[in-house]
Amino acid sequence: MAKRSNKAFYITTPIYYVNDVPHIGHTYTTIIADVLNRIQKLSGNKVFFLTGTDEHGQKVEKAATERGLKPIELADQVVERYKDLWKDLNISYDFFIRTTEPFHEKGVQKIFRKLMEKGDIYKGIYKGWYCVSDENFLAEDVPLEKGGYKICPDCGKRADVVSEDCYFFKLSAYQKPLLDFYAKFPAFVRPPSRMNEVVSFVRQGLKDLSITRTTVKWGIPVPDDPDHTIYVWFDALHNYLTGIGYDWNMELFEKFWPATVHLIGKDILRFHAIFWPAFLMAADFPLPKTVIGHGWWLKDKTKMSKSKGNVLDPYLILDTFGPDPLRYFLLREIPIGLDGNFSHEGFVHRVNSDLANDLGNLVQRTLTMIQNYFNGKIEETEKEEKIDKEIRLEFDNLKKKVLKFFEDYALSKALEEIWAYISSVNKYLAVNEPWKLAKDQSKRKRLGRILYQAAAALRGISYLLFPFMPGSSEKIWGFLGEEEPIQEESFSELKFENLKLGQKIKKPKPLFPRIALKDFLKEEEKKSSPARKEEKMEQVTFDEFKRMDFRVGEVLKAERVEGTDKLLKLEVDIGTEKRTMVAGVADVYSPEELVGKKFVFIVNLKPAVIRGIESQGMLLAAEVEGKATIPFFDKDVQTGAKVR
Ligand SMILES: [Zn+2]
Repeated sequence: MAKRSNKAFYITTPIYYVNDVPHIGHTYTTIIADVLNRIQKLSGNKVFFLTGTDEHGQKVEKAATERGLKPIELADQVVERYKDLWKDLNISYDFFIRTTEPFHEKGVQKIFRKLMEKGDIYKGIYKGWYCVSDENFLAEDVPLEKGGYKICPDCGKRADVVSEDCYFFKLSAYQKPLLDFYAKFPAFVRPPSRMNEVVSFVRQGLKDLSITRTTVKWGIPVPDDPDHTIYVWFDALHNYLTGIGYDWNMELFEKFWPATVHLIGKDILRFHAIFWPAFLMAADFPLPKTVIGHGWWLKDKTKMSKSKGNVLDPYLILDTFGPDPLRYFLLREIPIGLDGNFSHEGFVHRVNSDLANDLGNLVQRTLTMIQNYFNGKIEETEKEEKIDKEIRLEFDNLKKKVLKFFEDYALSKALEEIWAYISSVNKYLAVNEPWKLAKDQSKRKRLGRILYQAAAALRGISYLLFPFMPGSSEKIWGFLGEEEPIQEESFSELKFENLKLGQKIKKPKPLFPRIALKDFLKEEEKKSSPARKEEKMEQVTFDEFKRMDFRVGEVLKAERVEGTDKLLKLEVDIGTEKRTMVAGVADVYSPEELVGKKFVFIVNLKPAVIRGIESQGMLLAAEVEGKATIPFFDKDVQTGAKVR
């Protein structure tokens, strides 16, 4: 094995706020981070990849209260959602930090105390316009509306004047040091347009920053002054230190700090490019190398938002396509930094044309020919002709270009180049027509050479795609008969001619089945959010309503359906007869709770077989976030009475 460089590379995603479940925006950031992580690992560097959750603050407190939970219970639930999604997307992070962990809280307090002692944090009185929804004081230059109030420029909600005792961070003292730092490291923020935004903002002057709250209880207490909690942003940013061992594993911390890349969405650039380096300067930490601010994904050209009901659930795609098409699409479609547009048409088109056609077909026909003509063995080559040499040299060239793009974080460009090469190899096969040579025994060696070149190219392609589509790459690699994992070969070792003669290939399985757009849209219809279903709610006539027979039924027996968490088998008296029904309420209600009680059932629904049981009716229940609540009668009613 070649010498590995062993440089330390520390990459982070933002920690995600637990007042909401993961969506495509979080997914995008985290996929980019995972690709960078895998690239660095292939380069032989020591990499630490940190992600996690931001769990304090007013919004979490509020969201938890609305759900009847404690903040930490809400956080625990949402954390599981994130961890599941990252697993399903093949994200290989090294550590998942939660800001409610004691080591994080201790670390933040330690730094807070240090800055107090230095005089960079001081106590004063803050009066200003405060946006509750964003937990943020508005900038001074936000204009007064006619009614004498201010509107939050970030969320459009009305702000309140808040005056409170407060600790300040002396940000004003860091204007000059920050400008000097930006001048010295112009690539600190990428893309460059974002660096310009930051510089011009700082040039206008910086005011001291209020970094504590007395109104918020769900946060880290200020050391020695527990009526104050540390502002959620100050708390959260320090995860990048505590997540790598600050104050609890200093050996790890020394090895990886400063961060190589903080990957963020452009909406939180100011926090990462101005406040964060200022906090770090104040506490005498070395500064991160790069902050990359990526763009936003729009859905059908409009911004996704919960209120519009157009937030894209990653599982809609994952369930149908698996992780690699989503990883590929998000990185291929736009350069990091620009906004992208997600449409189902665009997605399905790209997956079918790039993955199923270009790459999928190359894999299938190359391997099938080796299977058919050489009994699955890579062998019998003659010397390269000019056209063969060209396809090899084009790969050498591709590798150089891709590595350069990797250095510049130009991931979409790298994919573009890889696909240009896939076309070349497809063309190479079309021009050489190996299927014709196979009919002529005297051309056997020539045939061997052509299939060797195609398989060697494919090996190189699957290697270069590994950071983007690890699952599919490993499959292609395995089809080619490679036994060592891809990661065992470093970038510097990768060569076209690493494909060994005599290697036995495996029978390929289809990698990317074609999906028709209409099938995909049907899937989405089924899964679209309740908010969206409501928008599309159809009206029924009174006659249609009358056709439905709702009755008061009494539960005579109830038992769990074996092998399920949610299903109960009920025996229900509906007045005229006894019916068997299956109800999805076992995660909320025990069988004993239901027996002897009367509820509303629809009794003329076509029977459905559920887990082998014919359900002859349906119990009505409200559904809130997947959990059922059964409505009941406030007086005793006769079994069998009609409900309308
Ligand atoms: Zn706001």
